[in-house]
Amino acid sequence: MKLDILCRGIEVDRGALWRFSDSGIALRNRVYNTPLWSIESTATLPQELRVGGLVIGLNSYGPSKWKLEFSEQDDSFQIINREAEYKLKPEFIPDLGLFRQHPEHRRVANLYGGHALSFFSPRHCYFFADKTECGFCSLDGTAREDKSFKNVLDVDDVTRSVRTALETDRDQIEQIMIVGGNLRDLDHGFEHHVALAKAAAAELERAGLSDLISVHIATMPPHNLGLIALLKEIKNIHVMFNLEVWDETQFNIICPGKASDYGRNAILTALEALRDNIGPYRAHSLLVTGLESSESTIAGATALSELGISPIINVYHSDQHSKIGLGSRPTFESLRAVALALQDLYQTYPLMPYWKHCGRNSIDAEAQFGLFGDITPGFLSLAPYVNA
Ligand code: SF4
Repeated sequence: MKLDILCRGIEVDRGALWRFSDSGIALRNRVYNTPLWSIESTATLPQELRVGGLVIGLNSYGPSKWKLEFSEQDDSFQIINREAEYKLKPEFIPDLGLFRQHPEHRRVANLYGGHALSFFSPRHCYFFADKTECGFCSLDGTAREDKSFKNVLDVDDVTRSVRTALETDRDQIEQIMIVGGNLRDLDHGFEHHVALAKAAAAELERAGLSDLISVHIATMPPHNLGLIALLKEIKNIHVMFNLEVWDETQFNIICPGKASDYGRNAILTALEALRDNIGPYRAHSLLVTGLESSESTIAGATALSELGISPIINVYHSDQHSKIGLGSRPTFESLRAVALALQDLYQTYPLMPYWKHCGRNSIDAEAQFGLFGDITPGFLSLAPYVNA
């Protein structure tokens, strides 16, 4: 079901949109991506929903067999599978008390997948200035359209938001995420991310929560690999240096900035240094399914696993403002092949998901729990959740 929804997107009944306002549901933070094609950009919608316990991105690309509707009769939302004619009851994720009680924190932090308190900085990436941005990335256009977020965060921003969130939402937060675009000086950009992560880690330590709440960084690797040792000072750390696609030719096409300014082999070398510094499988690299063949994604996930690096599999979402735009969608069959292979890898290696329970477009936690089976798409495994 999750694979099928992610590859097709969800059509949204526009008449129901107003029901999300003032509902206490966590609404979309348009910090860096915009996978909404059939709704005005100002529409307020949740960025994910939960079905059968799974967090799923609410990406909307126009007509789809999956439709989100509001039922006046039941006074509740339902997701209709228009081909198989059954309905599912989605749950919506409540917003953090942090944002409801202290709205000023919305400028610097956001909630990802219901459980990750996320900080995005800097809110720009020099690859756009060079016109060598990753083909799927919509950061530049999204940031130009919505200026309600601070562009560059400092240590105090993170300290204040984490400290307050641990008072208001201690039970909801499972991880802190530091992510952002890239400065031209990659070493300086890496140090910026490490400084923000350290600020978050210090607040977790102060609250005695370091073992329960992990700290995650997604960044470009530094040129000076010696800087990676800085990460050793952060307890319960996970770090992602993203290859995005495994196949070298596709990597050069999809990520021209990464290819020319760093290089695929150098990213792999940096990943090995990361593994050696923070421990096997706490080092991650993301592969976006749908941007290369499923065979290539599987080969990449396998090779990374053998190196002691946890592959992270994200299902490609077509973003407005990205170079690729709406032109490319993964098929259910290709996603299923990747999901089953990933699940096998989880049985062979001690892989760790980057997003523990909150990967709205990723499928790693589901593979870890062995949830993928050889089934009719989205039907047999859903028996407890079907309300048809
Ligand atoms: S590295 Fe690529 S994906 Fe990341 S912010 Fe820059 S352009 Fe976007």
